[in-house]
Amino acid sequence: METLRTLPGDDVRQILWRYADRFDLQMAVQSARGIARGLVARLVADGERNSHEWTEGKAELLKAFDESGLTSIYMDPCQGGFIEGPKNLALSLVALELAWVDAGAATGSLASCLGLAPIHEKGTDDQRNTYLGMCCPPQPGEDREIKRAAFALTEPLPYVGVDTGVLGGKIRVESWEDGQEPMLKVEKRGRFITNMDFADIVTAAVESDDERLKGTCMVILENGDPGVFDRGAPTLKMVHQLSSTRDPVMNLSIPASRIIGGYEVKDGVIIPKYNHSEIIASVFHRTRIPVGLMTSAKLLSAIEPVIRYHRQRFRGGSAEQGSPRFDLGLQQKEDSLHRLIDVWAAGEAGCSLGFAAARLADEFDPIEREKDRSFEEQGLSGRKGFMALRKKQAEVEEYIALKFAPEGEGDATRMAELESDNLVRFAYMDALAGVLNPGTKLWNTGVGATMMREAVSLVGGYGITEDCPGFLCHKWMDAQLEATYEGPEAVQRRHLTLTMSNPVFLAIVKQWIAELKRIHATDAGVGACTLASAMEQWLWAMNYLQGAKDSDGRKLYHGKRQGVTFAMADALGWLIASRYFIKDVLVLKEQAPLNPVLADGVEGLTDFYANMSFTQAARAAGESARICAELVFGYGDGAEFEGQDEFARLRLELDSCLSGARLAKDRAANALTGVMIPEALDYPM
Ligand SMILES: Cc1cc2nc3c(=O)[nH]c(=O)nc-3n(C[C@H](O)[C@H](O)[C@H](O)COP(=O)(O)OP(=O)(O)OC[C@H]3O[C@@H](n4cnc5c(N)ncnc54)[C@H](O)[C@@H]3O)c2cc1C
Repeated sequence: METLRTLPGDDVRQILWRYADRFDLQMAVQSARGIARGLVARLVADGERNSHEWTEGKAELLKAFDESGLTSIYMDPCQGGFIEGPKNLALSLVALELAWVDAGAATGSLASCLGLAPIHEKGTDDQRNTYLGMCCPPQPGEDREIKRAAFALTEPLPYVGVDTGVLGGKIRVESWEDGQEPMLKVEKRGRFITNMDFADIVTAAVESDDERLKGTCMVILENGDPGVFDRGAPTLKMVHQLSSTRDPVMNLSIPASRIIGGYEVKDGVIIPKYNHSEIIASVFHRTRIPVGLMTSAKLLSAIEPVIRYHRQRFRGGSAEQGSPRFDLGLQQKEDSLHRLIDVWAAGEAGCSLGFAAARLADEFDPIEREKDRSFEEQGLSGRKGFMALRKKQAEVEEYIALKFAPEGEGDATRMAELESDNLVRFAYMDALAGVLNPGTKLWNTGVGATMMREAVSLVGGYGITEDCPGFLCHKWMDAQLEATYEGPEAVQRRHLTLTMSNPVFLAIVKQWIAELKRIHATDAGVGACTLASAMEQWLWAMNYLQGAKDSDGRKLYHGKRQGVTFAMADALGWLIASRYFIKDVLVLKEQAPLNPVLADGVEGLTDFYANMSFTQAARAAGESARICAELVFGYGDGAEFEGQDEFARLRLELDSCLSGARLAKDRAANALTGVMIPEALDYPM
């Protein structure tokens, strides 16, 4: 039987992550890979991670990013960039490539974009063109220094961290001459601010300490503004040392035009157009996707070094060349193969989820902007905007039903009508992105950090030494930071508590279940039946928990009841990652045979992926079923509850759908023993 011949290369990845027809993205991937496996790997191997300081060696990274085009990847062509339109997929691919070797380097490349993101998302046209242009490397013939940006939200404890509703940073009116622009005084102390060693521009969240200025806002601070711009002490971090992190202190005077998004003056009060929460919500919504992918990159990057280690484990002893012990080493043992498949499948599923989120974000960006524009035109802000969307609910659900209708069964005319309604498409995508974005950050980083430990354990004692190829031990530690910054798990679970109970999202889940059942009918080997049953059970539990009370009479699904809501968010993370993995495997099955490079050996490749997605679906179903059962039964007192039989039926159905899952895992594991790997890792130890 044909099995996997070589480790998947770019041809496979381009199909899975849908950039086979995007030459610009392929070039960006190649640039990032060149830096990652060259300069970045050398810096790590040379021990640059041993210092908290920003060194000359680390600064070489900035130059490399500038020269290769990675610095300007976030900018539009009119600002000096080279990619037209939204860039979420582009940034995600670059982050994955860099994090394949070192996530600190990936963070460094993303942090300037994060610093500019408040301006990019909510700045005025003038702010956007000025600051994004300044942060683009000079073009030939231009005589200027490139500027770099940092994002300052987090403050010294106990202020902003997870609970971004409280701000310590203050803003006051310093002077306001008649007919002149007001001058503002900003006091902000940051904590853990990335890029702070070299940033010239800081976008900072602040709260008014003056009755002539309303609420909170974000402002643009520049090194050179009158006052104190103290970069502060370096953070003594044990991870991501190739990026710079410090605790700055700023006490600066700035003109009011630096309020991001602008302001108006009403009755002598400066009213910023956006408060800081509105800005950070739209910033983090997207920037969390590449962070999730950084952790998944680590899992995928671990496969080759682990296989190499396992195969060579007994060489040099008495094992004779050509003997199973010489050729397979530890790969003779089932456990090491099975566990590596778990690591690999989790990495693939995380990438499937993260890249789906990134593609959706690209599609969603213009639709969201159009909705914002039309709401503004109609004066629909706050509650009025919410009500306008609520009115569309029935049409949105109709749209979802038609979108997922089996081929030939939908009403094409009605579908086209609904497709042309921007609000309908907005509501659908908003509900989906509202789950996929925090879901990627939560599942990829949280589960990824745990899976990374598995990868380290597979290399035994060598795994926790600096000599271990692939820097696995560093990656294990680094994964914890990815799970922490841009909002730790608690923030993502809080977000999901709201978005996963949105009726629009629940309508989507229903369609996913039906779609998975159809997939199972024609393609029984990818785990679709298992996942459909698990989703059905999750949906049942969700409906039950939303209406049920515990044996003390307290509501179960409630924002304050994190024991219930957070656990359901965790369960959902497993399910959505598995769903997108299955979808990607189906695309691979369809497209790989058409690719001349992949056509030879395609059966082995696609079977291997199908076996991995079945394995992942079984694991996801198990995790979700455990959580759902604990919640549904765990708050009772032993008395029978309404629907108990139905829940038991769903559990039984799920268990029976596991039929063959372990055989699929055996097959995938067995493929690891025959897959060809290069002689040596392509970056240094
Ligand atoms: C290396 C590094 C770089 C960083 N770069 C930046 C940057 O560039 N800009 C920036 O602004 N920030 C940055 N940060 C800050 C980072 O975003 C925060 O550390 C992170 O959001 C967590 O906040 P915190 O450290 O205050 O943790 P806390 O808010 O103290 O949270 C600690 C834990 O408490 C729990 N918790 C907290 N609140 C709740 C709640 N409401 N419900 C349930 N559980 C809760 C969670 O389990 C959480 O993990 C960086 C951090 C590091 C370490």
